[in-house]
Amino acid sequence: MQKNSKSTMTIPAQPASDLMEKIVSLCKRRGFIFQSSEIYGGLGSAWDYGPLGVELKRNIKNAWWKAVVHDRDDVVGLDCSILMHPTVWKASGHTENFTDILVDCKKCKKRFRKDKVEGKCPNCGANDFTEGRAFNLMLKTHLGAVEDEASVTYLRPETAQGIFANFINVLDTSRKKLPFGIAQIGKSFRNEITPGNFIFRTREFEQMEIEYFTKPDEANACHERWIKDRLNWYLDLGIRKEKLRLRKHGDDELAHYAAGCTDIEYYFPFGWSELEGIANRTDYDLKQHTQFSGKDLQYKDNVTQEKFFPFIIEPSGGVDRALLAFLVDAYQEEMVQEDMRVVLKLGAALAPIKVAVLPLLKKNDGIVVLAKKIKEDLQKEFTTVYDDTAAIGKLYRRQDEVGTFFCVTVDVQSLEDQQVTVRDRDTMQQERIPVAGLKKYLVEKLLN
Ligand code: ATP
Repeated sequence: MQKNSKSTMTIPAQPASDLMEKIVSLCKRRGFIFQSSEIYGGLGSAWDYGPLGVELKRNIKNAWWKAVVHDRDDVVGLDCSILMHPTVWKASGHTENFTDILVDCKKCKKRFRKDKVEGKCPNCGANDFTEGRAFNLMLKTHLGAVEDEASVTYLRPETAQGIFANFINVLDTSRKKLPFGIAQIGKSFRNEITPGNFIFRTREFEQMEIEYFTKPDEANACHERWIKDRLNWYLDLGIRKEKLRLRKHGDDELAHYAAGCTDIEYYFPFGWSELEGIANRTDYDLKQHTQFSGKDLQYKDNVTQEKFFPFIIEPSGGVDRALLAFLVDAYQEEMVQEDMRVVLKLGAALAPIKVAVLPLLKKNDGIVVLAKKIKEDLQKEFTTVYDDTAAIGKLYRRQDEVGTFFCVTVDVQSLEDQQVTVRDRDTMQQERIPVAGLKKYLVEKLLN
């Protein structure tokens, strides 16, 4: 994979406060992310992915799936329903324990998660809060026509439980032996008390989760390996090393089922925050579901005939948070002569558009025909666009701003020598390449 050429930088003590505004504005202006239900005044903390955002999101999910499923022999995929039997949530502990403690500021009446308030009210600065109250984060719904207690169920708050409930199904059909994992990407829902920071914390979001089953005495080593693997995934996709760190949970922070957890944190414009958590969930989940369902979810070792509950290592990341981190990390402003150019230095695997084909003169039929022919040929290989709606300088800036890897320009000379100009997004260097060898040239740069 071609790495991008981001300048390395030292992390300032205070993150750039206006960077988030710039990212939000770029996302809206260029069709990455729109506010949900905007024509009705918007729905707080719900976001829609536009034409470029959806490409970026798919690229992130594909890169994840490739790394954790296709490139490995020990992980298989799964896609479970969002609605599950309500007893699942009793067994998992969510009905009882999936709560945040909330407090209200007595002065401005705003509501906060107690663990996020340090002394003063983040809104008005007062220091007078109500007593903390437990608030369950699961979104409730009713199945069927009658809205009584018996019809209550929940939108899943994590994808993990569908994996545990299918443990035996996957084991029986895939014939995997320990250690092995099950991966899933899907929507989850949490009635967050304080959503915010754009797509960082929302009530509907997408998760990428792996539940990796291992022998209990191998769980710690396996946990360490997954922490390394997952950190490397972000690095390989181009995130700057100095903007990532690992943070081990203290005993007081651990979920009730976990024997250990390490977060991968990213230095967002609003500070260091969790991108992904990698937990050792012990044998809690399979034991709980065995108890509540009455079905034996133990693993049987074919050689020793021994039956036991495997331990589970869970790398759990958010698609939306990863997307925000990739955007923030890729955003650069550079002075080019007297002008400032905004450029998204996304890696080749993630860039929503790989190549833009631009005719230098849109009134010249020969140029337009050749440019469209090149575009049709390239689009079989990678996402390619054709744009003739502005002068060339403006077209370059437009493509830079959305992270397009290469611009191919067709000019009068191209009609004579069958060569085009290829401009590299990061270096802005231009090279003349024969049309006949263009695809091969781009494939080598983009896919290797
Ligand atoms: P936080 O402490 O930020 O609330 P968490 O520790 O509760 O997160 P997990 O339950 O570990 O989060 O979920 C795994 C991953 O799912 C997180 O690392 C994050 O990337 C993503 N995620 C969780 N909650 C949200 C949310 N409300 N909005 C967007 N992504 C989320």
